[in-house]
Amino acid sequence: MGFDTIIVNGTVVTATDTYVADVAISGGKIVAIGQHVPQLNAGKIIDATGKYVFPGGIDAHTHLDMPFGGTTSADDFETGTTAAAFGGTTTIVDFAIQYKGQDLRTAFDSWMKKADGKAVADYAFHCIMTDVPAARLDEMNELVRDGVTSFKLFMAYPGVFMLDDATIFKVLQRTSKNGAMVCMHAENGGAIDVIVQQMLAEGKTAPKYHALSRPTTFEAEAVSRAIALAEIAGAPLYIVHLSCDDALQKVREGRDRGLPVYAETCPQYLYLSLENMDAPGFEGAKYVFTPPLREKWNQEKLWEGLKHDHLQVVSTDHCPFCFKEQKEMGKGDFTKIPNGGPGIEHRFSLIYSGGPAAGRFNVNRFVEIVSTTPAKLFGLYPRKGTIAIGSDADIVVFDPKREHIISAATHHMRVDYSMFEGIRVTGMPDIVLSRGKVIVENDKFTGRAGAGEFIKRATYAGL
Ligand SMILES: [Zn+2]
Repeated sequence: MGFDTIIVNGTVVTATDTYVADVAISGGKIVAIGQHVPQLNAGKIIDATGKYVFPGGIDAHTHLDMPFGGTTSADDFETGTTAAAFGGTTTIVDFAIQYKGQDLRTAFDSWMKKADGKAVADYAFHCIMTDVPAARLDEMNELVRDGVTSFKLFMAYPGVFMLDDATIFKVLQRTSKNGAMVCMHAENGGAIDVIVQQMLAEGKTAPKYHALSRPTTFEAEAVSRAIALAEIAGAPLYIVHLSCDDALQKVREGRDRGLPVYAETCPQYLYLSLENMDAPGFEGAKYVFTPPLREKWNQEKLWEGLKHDHLQVVSTDHCPFCFKEQKEMGKGDFTKIPNGGPGIEHRFSLIYSGGPAAGRFNVNRFVEIVSTTPAKLFGLYPRKGTIAIGSDADIVVFDPKREHIISAATHHMRVDYSMFEGIRVTGMPDIVLSRGKVIVENDKFTGRAGAGEFIKRATYAGL
């Protein structure tokens, strides 16, 4: 009996180690790592000489097939996980939304249906809570037992998603007992809405005003308030899509005091800025999402935050809406532009390019940011997030020299524009495996819809 597949002579990179080795796979798992692993009877040999062998990427923040503002995000679980795979991401954690009046189980079931038979690689869910009478708190424990071990709350979008501080505090108290993690959208939604209404009354309706109505101070204030609530509740806290230095400083202060506070940023905040909102005509709508793009100087602060572990994760907040017909719903009123942008395909290459390739941090830190830390924080480790014996064979054979220019003309996301159009990246995935099966090779998709499985996650265990 030989191995199903052996990846030979690649440079294996984990969050801690870098070494040349062969990686042998059987039954979808990594079963041997060594030098000169016997190739006799192996089903498939992949030569990774001169390439990196990375653990598959984990994108902890995606919105596939998500209703928003009278439309639905353009990628479903098939097109979204396929595009993710092309970019080196083999596990996503998406969001099941509990709407007002619903129980949590209904939310979970309806998102399980959206993914079933469609996802090409593995997936898990956070649960968004928008309506929390006492009964919902007990239901959180049931979801945790079923592997949904994180809950997203909003401090923004009053009347739609926003919860008040008392409710947020109750949820945090519950997670401090049941081992779940709260993921927080931190912006002061009430105050933002005052500015939004004033802008509309003044005839300021262009896409750019979406960004100008949401100052960094209101993000920082909400981050600080969320940390205070979590501290007193004794719960860990994960800030999603942190966009600016003001908010980063609040996370850093909390972490410096030893609190279990974590934060992710996204490629759009590292590569794009308020200047993109000045695109001609209505084009600024392509960059309408929350938090909004910030002044350019914030980018380097966020990269430094990643380097020094003030920020722990990069996720995409992938929430694609086509420019035609979807983004265009907000012509003449920026509040009607569906909020979100596409990015699930480009996280690996953008962070590799701006990180190790640019000399900002090394390949081990890169793996930590895009795979290992999200796996650990969200209960997927060590099944996902590393190259180790017994782990799922979710593996990216990555060519650090290959260059690529990002464009809507060549991407695989089902959306008619790219936020990163024209950006040149260095480093691209060559071969991507999901549980031992090659799903992308030589720019061709070789996987299958429905091959992805729901992953029951463990509770938070610290880093
Ligand atoms: Zn989001």
